[in-house]
Amino acid sequence: MTSSAVQRTNYNTIYLDQSDALAADQARIFNIQRYSLNDGFGIRTVIFFKGCPHYCPWCANPESISRKIQVVKRKSKCLHCATCLNDADECPSGAMERIGYDISLENLIKEILKDDIFFRSSGGGVTLSGGEVLLQAKFASQLLERLKKLGINTAIETAGDIRFEDFLSVAKYCDEVLFDFKIMDEEQAKQVSNIHLSRVLDNFARLYEQNIPLTPRIPLIPGYTLDQQNIERVIAFLKQFPNIKEIHLLPFHQFGEPKYDLIKRPYTMGEIKAPEDEEVQRIKAYVEQQGYTVMVGG
Ligand code: SF4
Repeated sequence: MTSSAVQRTNYNTIYLDQSDALAADQARIFNIQRYSLNDGFGIRTVIFFKGCPHYCPWCANPESISRKIQVVKRKSKCLHCATCLNDADECPSGAMERIGYDISLENLIKEILKDDIFFRSSGGGVTLSGGEVLLQAKFASQLLERLKKLGINTAIETAGDIRFEDFLSVAKYCDEVLFDFKIMDEEQAKQVSNIHLSRVLDNFARLYEQNIPLTPRIPLIPGYTLDQQNIERVIAFLKQFPNIKEIHLLPFHQFGEPKYDLIKRPYTMGEIKAPEDEEVQRIKAYVEQQGYTVMVGG
């Protein structure tokens, strides 16, 4: 068995462990964010899918990681009833809350079409995010195919670590694939984030060959991805693909920290500061010198 086959087997195990058998026309999501100005062109509606096989310590959406619907308690909203009902349906203040819900294809399209006027006026559209949307590739593919038929711009955000056939089934309906490059060392990527770097790079190359519109993004995470050598490795890889003209840099922030407490997951990035603007500008200038247009954020 080749090493990539081993990786694929491991990955599929994760996939199957997380599945609790949704119907083909159902997705598990945890948020629909409207009027977003990031995550693609124009005004976007971003659909956050639940479930991710990775565990990047800097994740800003840790509630996306578990595939399960979670029930959490927001202490600030709690009325301290004599007896806590411990039930999201019964809690009088909404302090008990479910993270995640299942939605049908038709109902999700209805929700999306409420924003159609914003898409038309801004050139925006829909971005599928997560979690890792490609864990629900079958649904995502059906959704994007329908949106394309409706003339709506489509994008996905992904770490790119999935079976190629599943990836392509979704990417072929995308106007833009926002493709993350994180730790560029095979061992470290596996150890820190459970990402199979060789498969990520292989998928990028194969999608490029299929003329899928790809936008590389580099999260700038102090201690993990924010060092010159890591950035140089990304650039050295991308140099093989002459049609790649633009790269997005995503500086680390701690906006996700309160969510870790909410879902009772340890947050290990508390001592890590966001990079100074000077540092971000230095990286930006370096990437520009390499011939790319650079967008910070996005
Ligand atoms: S039922 Fe809701 S408001 Fe009442 S104690 Fe429990 S969490 Fe707090």
